[in-house]
Amino acid sequence: MDDETKSIHEFDFQLICEYFSQLERQGPGSPEVTRKALSFIDQLTADSRIADLGCGTGGQTMVLAQHAPGHMTGIDLFPAFIDLFNRNAVRLGLNDRVTGVVGSMENLPFQSEELDLIWSEGAIYNIGFERGLNEWRNYLKPGGYLAVTEASWFTEERPDEIDRFWMDAYPGIDTIPAKVAQLQQAGYVPVAIFILPENCWTDHFYALQVAAQEAFLKKYPGNKTVEDFIASERHEMQLYEAYKAYYGYVFYIGKKI
Ligand code: SAM
Repeated sequence: MDDETKSIHEFDFQLICEYFSQLERQGPGSPEVTRKALSFIDQLTADSRIADLGCGTGGQTMVLAQHAPGHMTGIDLFPAFIDLFNRNAVRLGLNDRVTGVVGSMENLPFQSEELDLIWSEGAIYNIGFERGLNEWRNYLKPGGYLAVTEASWFTEERPDEIDRFWMDAYPGIDTIPAKVAQLQQAGYVPVAIFILPENCWTDHFYALQVAAQEAFLKKYPGNKTVEDFIASERHEMQLYEAYKAYYGYVFYIGKKI
């Protein structure tokens, strides 16, 4: 595999963490889309318990907290992200009901049937869609909601180049009907399914990285790892531009039966 096709998973975690800490979001999405997904979820009250898994620095968690009642816990593996998350909560005056905790989505610090809502934007792939749906369901109250975004194919077939890229990065990617079937099999009623608009990738994710990439290259002149990492990010952006008709992120919102 040449440097251009190296997957993000092969780079040093500290480096990735530092790079993405510069950004408001660590994955495709937007405040509008977070609010749209939230509009499908009813019954939240000031006593509701909400978890945002793989929350990163909390871009979407803060939007949730500004538009929904209840207590929110963000969970992320990386302490630097959680540090920024908690600082963001303080800055926005949300820290009385929004808390970031370092932890893994594979071993959650919640009781069985404790949660009213599990949120996860661009992160369930870390545990795998089906595994996440099944394991996280135990923490939801009956009638509780799950709202996650997941990379999905828009067509049954696609060009080899993009197929190979995703099979290497995340072989769990599948078509929307296949993902909906997995949601149902895991014990959820599909409540809403929608494709994230292109601007979630372009304006809200990739465009913001252009300046971040320049700054990063300047900070680490001649650092081969950094150069390879930035090249891989740029390659991913180019692939999106070329093949966005074939894949994207989809919001899957389900209600626990
Ligand atoms: N939800 C954020 C957003 O949309 O901006 C972040 C998405 S980012 C693509 C994926 C996040 O998952 C990263 O913040 C990463 O640190 C986190 N992550 C990876 N593995 C994890 C795990 N096992 N448990 C919790 N978080 C994890």
